[in-house]
Amino acid sequence: MRFLPVFLDLQGGLVLLVGSGDPARAKLRLLISAGARVRWYATDGHHDVNGIAAPDAARIEPATGDPLIADLSGVVAVVCAGAGEIGPAMSARARTLGLPVNVMDDLAHSTFIFPAIVDRGDVVVAVGTGGASPVVARRVRERIEAVLPARIGELARFIGRWRKAIHALVPEFALRRRFWERVIDGGIGELVLAGRGEEAEATLKKIRDPSGFAGALPSGRAEGSVSLIGAGPGDPDLLTVKALRALQDADVIFHDELVAGEILDRARRDATRVSVGRRVGKPGIGQKAINQLLIEAAKSGQRAVRLKGGDPFVFGRGGEEIEALRQANVAFSVIPGITAGLGAAAQFEVPLTFRNEALRITFLTAHKARDAQAVDWSTLTDTKMTIVVYMGMTAAPSVRAGLVAAGRSPQTPVGVFARVTRTDAQAVVGTLDRLPDLVAGIDGGPAILIIGDVVAHSAPARHLELTQLASYFQVAAE
Ligand code: SAH
Repeated sequence: MRFLPVFLDLQGGLVLLVGSGDPARAKLRLLISAGARVRWYATDGHHDVNGIAAPDAARIEPATGDPLIADLSGVVAVVCAGAGEIGPAMSARARTLGLPVNVMDDLAHSTFIFPAIVDRGDVVVAVGTGGASPVVARRVRERIEAVLPARIGELARFIGRWRKAIHALVPEFALRRRFWERVIDGGIGELVLAGRGEEAEATLKKIRDPSGFAGALPSGRAEGSVSLIGAGPGDPDLLTVKALRALQDADVIFHDELVAGEILDRARRDATRVSVGRRVGKPGIGQKAINQLLIEAAKSGQRAVRLKGGDPFVFGRGGEEIEALRQANVAFSVIPGITAGLGAAAQFEVPLTFRNEALRITFLTAHKARDAQAVDWSTLTDTKMTIVVYMGMTAAPSVRAGLVAAGRSPQTPVGVFARVTRTDAQAVVGTLDRLPDLVAGIDGGPAILIIGDVVAHSAPARHLELTQLASYFQVAAE
């Protein structure tokens, strides 16, 4: 993020506009519609304001003379549009005075830029690309326009009118937020969006017990809860719609180390974030302490999210957490995520089942050599079974030894898939006898092992085959 989006109140101040032609007039219209007073130095001497009618036009002060020596007292921002060479000079002057300045299409001389805007009255959405591509910003704006209800601004205004009154009736913040969520997501919001504002008003007035409407407990507090959410293997676009919604509603998020920053960026900004995970070689705070934190957060009325890599119920200790929550009588829900094995399969085109070739899948963990020794490999010799190994990097030699000793062919195709669905994902494929070497070829975890004939169909295996074939022909030709 190069520029921080903020909303500037221009009603109190004067904006200095320098420039001429359509670019200047477009900025003039925008500034006037935001309630500004504009002192306009038309660099070509033409101050025609066609399209802006009185009384708005009364807020435009046509100015003549040299803007570079103009008095800037009372000016809150400087905008140059179609100003030619005066733009950079004007920018230097504004900067020495500490005034925000925009020079159209000139990032180097601007301290602020104009976003693409969706304007629905009180609801305004600003879209920026850091000045990189106004066309991309406009495309994003079009998409937002398409999904926003036409009367969303009316809904905001409706709530704005009632805010103070409800604040007095529901003083607790968490409960009040839920009150408004129920208004917006329920029948009252629907009425406003349908243009039936008076009925909406009447329905709101009929709410006798606003705390009850917000779902308060008998104690009068907001009911807390815990959502166990699977964040998927890394790509934030793989979050489910439900997970995204829960992240947007969260008061506090307890997340694993495995959860990427881009995913946390999609959560509500004001939510407290607590990292509770452990990393390979670094101890975490321990499962008991995590359970306790979840329980305490929910009991204090917060909406807590427990955010885990992949799926919460696949080697994620989600089972232990819900047991603790059940015992503590805390309301919870589980939102599944895409587990790393499925992420790897999708990204690298490994069909985990395949016609008559692969009919079963086993997900197992081989955290340490000790765990790998504890696995009963004799149940995994079926050649029609695909084996997906979690936490299997360190134990790779034991995984190979166990499977081969049990009778699985050393020539079985295997793949090591690291940091899947992230931008730095990596895949190495080969055969079971070479598994530890393959793991050694990985630039760092986390990584998933997939073992079974289906790996031969994967994109990296096909690629390998092609390059081997090419080098064979090359050798043959030589
Ligand atoms: N609940 C998680 C698994 C947690 S166990 C899930 O469903 O995916 C941690 C192990 O998951 C790692 O050791 C690794 O084997 C695997 N893993 C997690 N994220 C991964 C990723 N992006 N790429 C490859 N493997 C991953």
